[in-house]
Amino acid sequence: DTIGDNLDRTAARVPDGEALVDRAQGLRYTWAEFVTEVDALAVGLLDLGIAKGERVGIWAPNCAQWTLLQYATAKVGAILVNINPAYRTHELEFVLNQAGIRMLVAARSFKTSMYAEMIESVRPNCPALERIVITDTEQWAQLFVHDGDVGRVRERQGELSADDAINIQYTSGTTGFPKGATLSHHNILNNGYFVGRLCGYTEVDRVCIPVPFYHCFGMVMGNLACSSSGATMVIPAPGFDPKLTLEACAEERCTSLYGVPTMFIAELSLPDADSYDLAPLRTGIMAGSPCPIEVMKQVVERFGMSEVSICYGMTETSPVSTQTRADDSLDRRVSTVGRTMPHLESKIVDPETGLTVPRGTPGELCTRGYSVMLGYWEQPEKTAEVIDRARWMHTGDLGVMDDEGYVNITGRIKDMVIRGGENVYPREIEEFLYTHPDILDAQVIGVPDERYGEELMAWVRLRDGVADLTAEAVREFANGRLAHYKIPRYVRVVDEFPMTVTGKVRKVEMRAESVELLG
Ligand code: ATP
Ligand code: MG
Repeated sequence: DTIGDNLDRTAARVPDGEALVDRAQGLRYTWAEFVTEVDALAVGLLDLGIAKGERVGIWAPNCAQWTLLQYATAKVGAILVNINPAYRTHELEFVLNQAGIRMLVAARSFKTSMYAEMIESVRPNCPALERIVITDTEQWAQLFVHDGDVGRVRERQGELSADDAINIQYTSGTTGFPKGATLSHHNILNNGYFVGRLCGYTEVDRVCIPVPFYHCFGMVMGNLACSSSGATMVIPAPGFDPKLTLEACAEERCTSLYGVPTMFIAELSLPDADSYDLAPLRTGIMAGSPCPIEVMKQVVERFGMSEVSICYGMTETSPVSTQTRADDSLDRRVSTVGRTMPHLESKIVDPETGLTVPRGTPGELCTRGYSVMLGYWEQPEKTAEVIDRARWMHTGDLGVMDDEGYVNITGRIKDMVIRGGENVYPREIEEFLYTHPDILDAQVIGVPDERYGEELMAWVRLRDGVADLTAEAVREFANGRLAHYKIPRYVRVVDEFPMTVTGKVRKVEMRAESVELLG
């Protein structure tokens, strides 16, 4: 199946089921209405002469228009390029040129930036860019050709192959400049379908999606999991807002809620977090970065998400490689990233020798199977660095697999700290710091040190009402409970961590700032 064929199948099966709710714009579509709009937009794209394989960019926060374009481009075989809503002119220009975008669809503005103005300012430097459409204008409305020949759309759908590239998604840029992962229908449709299956979605489910569509978490684990199962996509707000998210869950009777750990932390720490009626909420997904055990326990206890799962993956693998199942023990569901997804393979290798290590030994996690991307867009050398000749994707993440196949992610290879010859995994220290009563959130990095090579530094966010926390107090708390070389030498209290828009902590930036601070 292609993404378009799969959507048509769902619409034929549950035409009257609700497909999409956009709360900010007050838009609602049944699956039948949704497909009618998608087809009308697809006719509009065909009328513009959009060819198979041509790149169409989308630069907007979460909104119904984003989703309509996602499926319309899939139907005409154009490659949708997701552009991060936080990008500014420099990054926008880079993506427009790197992906050779011919048509760009953008919101007029989002938060503080005027998209339309920024596009005009980079346009002279982007020779491939021919057409710009702003979503809240007449021009956008005119793209929908309702009295057109939908037969032409069907014809185009019939000419597509599931192995065609259909999407370029840039990685989060947590460790460096984002890379454009090129993904096929086969890659992302299957991954979305299996995520939906493991969450047990049917047409009665309603999934609250506050994570960005521009990232695979929103677009694949959210939209494609819903469209392949008939569940409803609920967009609580264009950008993340903890209050609007819980409000959407309560008022829309959502059964599933998504988020990266920091989003769940923000929701749980709202003063009125426990006053929302979340009775229908049974499941959800936490993913994207290490999921603190304490936060997992709280979403189970306080939000009633008894079947919540943790997913692990990366943009390059469509994204999900491992997921916990609802019937795994609670202990495993809060403390591991689960087992390998159906029809995929995982292995843990020694990063130096490339040899598979015994179960229980940490090493680099590798993934193989249908979900591995076609490659980085027009960067064959970069692709060759991560996908080997046997088609294994080397993730750059450190993991351990136990005898029953449960995987634990111990961190990124790049984030591991070597202090006085001892390997220290920041994740372990972060989990420990969460147990301190005054600490709301903690992130640990290595900073250069003359004596030990690297020293540990913790950045902590404090709970409401706690004025300060000294390094001495933290060290005292850790004394006798952590090996001496794992106790952070420095502690810095902050209000926020530097974040990517996908909600990941940018440790690269933390390190740079810390080095400067320590002089
Ligand atoms: P870049 O590749 O540009 O540096 P990125 O790796 O953060 O950015 P993504 O593809 O969005 O970009 O994220 C994938 C990474 O997120 C994984 O490689 C892993 O490090 C981390 N990750 C995802 N899910 C989990 C999880 N459940 N637990 C721990 N880490 C996770
Ligand atoms: Mg990455």
